[in-house]
Amino acid sequence: MLSRFLTFVASLLVGAFLGAIALPERLFWQGACTGLLVSALFWFCMDLIRGLSVLHWLQFEGAKDAPTQWGLWGRVTDRIRRLLRERDRENQASAQRLQQFLSAIQASPNGVLLLDAQDRIEWCNEMAAQHLGIEIARDLAQLIGNLVRDPDFSAYLHRAQYETEVVIAGRDHRPNHPVRISLQMFPYGEGRRLLLTRDITAIEQSEAMRRDFVANVSHEIRTPLTVLAGFVETLQNLPLSEPEREKYLGLMSQQAQRMQTLVQDLLTLSRLEGSPLPTHQEWIPALAMWHSCEAEGRALSSLLKPPEGPAQDVVFEASGLDACEVAGSRTELLSAMSNLVSNAIRYTPAGGRVHVSCQLQESGQIVFAVEDSGPGIAPEHISRITERFYRVDRSRSRETGGTGLGLAIVKHVVQRHGGHLTIQSVVGQGSRFAFELPADRVHLLQP
Ligand code: ADP
Repeated sequence: MLSRFLTFVASLLVGAFLGAIALPERLFWQGACTGLLVSALFWFCMDLIRGLSVLHWLQFEGAKDAPTQWGLWGRVTDRIRRLLRERDRENQASAQRLQQFLSAIQASPNGVLLLDAQDRIEWCNEMAAQHLGIEIARDLAQLIGNLVRDPDFSAYLHRAQYETEVVIAGRDHRPNHPVRISLQMFPYGEGRRLLLTRDITAIEQSEAMRRDFVANVSHEIRTPLTVLAGFVETLQNLPLSEPEREKYLGLMSQQAQRMQTLVQDLLTLSRLEGSPLPTHQEWIPALAMWHSCEAEGRALSSLLKPPEGPAQDVVFEASGLDACEVAGSRTELLSAMSNLVSNAIRYTPAGGRVHVSCQLQESGQIVFAVEDSGPGIAPEHISRITERFYRVDRSRSRETGGTGLGLAIVKHVVQRHGGHLTIQSVVGQGSRFAFELPADRVHLLQP
């Protein structure tokens, strides 16, 4: 401030001096006063011009192109320029933060949609747009009620309390391809609301599967239990001859055996679902496993051989297994192989043919296949027979001691070992069940 005052005074003195010497000596004071006034006017004009240039810069130009000034206006310009730069930096940082925040919401597996107090869409992420069938570019600022017309949602929207969620059919919902979306509103700010959307199709499906599973298990256990209870009552209340007692006890043991097999299969399935995938660390000699499978198959075949009539022709054929090991779980693989062999033997009538083979392929894979000349399976059942408790012929399955879980176990085991189960069948001619073990699970021993 002092320097500004001093320059002002100095310019007045210079003006007065110049005015005084510019005129003759007798007009000394008039000249000095005129010079003083002119220099004061000049000083103010210059100051005004500098002030106006700063104002113009503030109004029309960015922080970078500040006019170079000296004195007080120079310091004012510098200070403003620094403040503007700081403000720009802060703006950039908060824009970046906002961008990161929006990207995080975009990456969310749930849909997020913001509504203003009039139910207009202010912002939404791609997931919400996909769930609700909204086109972001077109539908921003539109009324949500006009875009999502589900009556349940309309009722929910106009309800003031949003403690619970509402479930509606998704945009791609079809009767054979259900899509269920859960929506829940959370109020915030002044009349604004956050709408969260979630695809709950898989959750609903697995809940339905769980319910079906419990119902199936209960049903499967209830049947032999009822039979058992009936026999117990008969044995308790009726005077029976020894042969009759023997007969009833035999039937009771059969039912108990059936329940035991069912529980065993259920435990196997739950172990398969709950345990980690078989590693590549445990190597099992393929030939030893094959021999166990063959022994089990032959034992079952002779057990089921009818007293009269022709026996089944059961052929076991392996190639290339003597020099290789397989990575995986021995129990699981043996259970998958035995289930397929047991099915073929159980469903193929007397006199039929069962051919079991296990071959090391040139590609390094091992292919295990079971072919039979049994009743075959109609195409509409093939895609479903690996489902738990799915049977083509319920009574035939029970008759042969089936639980309806065998193929579900096989499929699970094969998938856990990185393989794939293929089923080919022609009704009246027979079936072929095969799976392969990928080459990375097969290890050739050096000769
Ligand atoms: P189950 O214990 O009833 O045999 P699975 O899961 O092993 O249960 O098989 C499911 C259904 O697939 C069986 O009930 C049967 O109808 C059919 N099936 C399985 N293997 C064969 C086969 N080799 N020949 C004909 N049908 C078969």
